[in-house]
Amino acid sequence: MPPSADKHFLARIVERRDLSPDLWLLRVDPGGPFEHRAGQYATLGFERDGKRIERAYSIVSSPYEKSLEFFIELVPHGELTPHLYKLKVGDTLLCRKIAKGRFTLDLRSGRTQHLLVSTVTGIAPFVSYVRTLYRDWKSGDRAMPGGHRLYCLQGGSRSWEFGYREELESIAAETPWFEYVATVSRPWEDENWTGETGRVDDLLRKFTDSWGLRPETTTAYLCGHPNMVENARGILQRARWKKDAMFEELYFQPGKSSQPAQADAATP
Ligand SMILES: Cc1cc2nc3c(=O)[nH]c(=O)nc-3n(C[C@H](O)[C@H](O)[C@H](O)COP(=O)(O)OP(=O)(O)OC[C@H]3O[C@@H](n4cnc5c(N)ncnc54)[C@H](O)[C@@H]3O)c2cc1C
Repeated sequence: MPPSADKHFLARIVERRDLSPDLWLLRVDPGGPFEHRAGQYATLGFERDGKRIERAYSIVSSPYEKSLEFFIELVPHGELTPHLYKLKVGDTLLCRKIAKGRFTLDLRSGRTQHLLVSTVTGIAPFVSYVRTLYRDWKSGDRAMPGGHRLYCLQGGSRSWEFGYREELESIAAETPWFEYVATVSRPWEDENWTGETGRVDDLLRKFTDSWGLRPETTTAYLCGHPNMVENARGILQRARWKKDAMFEELYFQPGKSSQPAQADAATP
């Protein structure tokens, strides 16, 4: 048991899939009963020389799944990710017993359209929303309750950074309540890419218009890189989105280590 057994589980890696030299997916058995809602994050870490390093990671998996899934980017000069990057199946890490965060789907405001905007690993909470709703929809085999619809834009430098594109495209093709568009910002490094090009914020107005999304009926969720979140917030504000209809999950603040305590402040 870890020294902090009252607060932490010793989670075990059950699967690892590398997408690129700095992006990978981890599936972990949390090592005890871990409850969460789609869109929340777990706090992962390790202890070395009596010092504990911990960071927040959005949970990709749905609460219906037994194991927890994460989509992680290596920050070469970071404190935690170089350590996480070395871990293989069977290795352990610390996982706080309590999930946190309020970046969950807004089903109460009366707005029934949901615009999900992300950069690379920022897709994680949105995959959790979609997997959860998809499972409910399949088991009920009926229209989405309340007529909710989700519209997702994901940006990456190159197409191999998307991680969940096939899964999301397949759900979008099957269901009437989900749309997904991926965009590549460095098409010159990805010659076979035939989809959208540009940064995700470059495409925001085009897709809010083509999807017919209106500020009065749409909640926007911005997740991932702080520059994208700032740009997207400005673009949506200029299109008359009000602050209470925009939720943000910033993955880091430039120049600062992302301690989990800051994560709460980043949520709506
Ligand atoms: C709510 C929440 C959810 C998160 N979910 C995820 C997730 O699903 N997947 C994921 O990979 N990360 C996620 N993060 C970021 C994660 O918590 C860490 O900040 C990140 O993994 C870097 O940790 P580190 O200890 O290696 O680097 P740190 O030691 O924390 O950072 C070192 C320096 O790098 C900067 N930095 C941190 N991250 C990046 C980055 N991605 N790109 C460029 N510079 C950076 C920091 O500002 C700092 O200056 C999330 C953060 C929050 C707040």
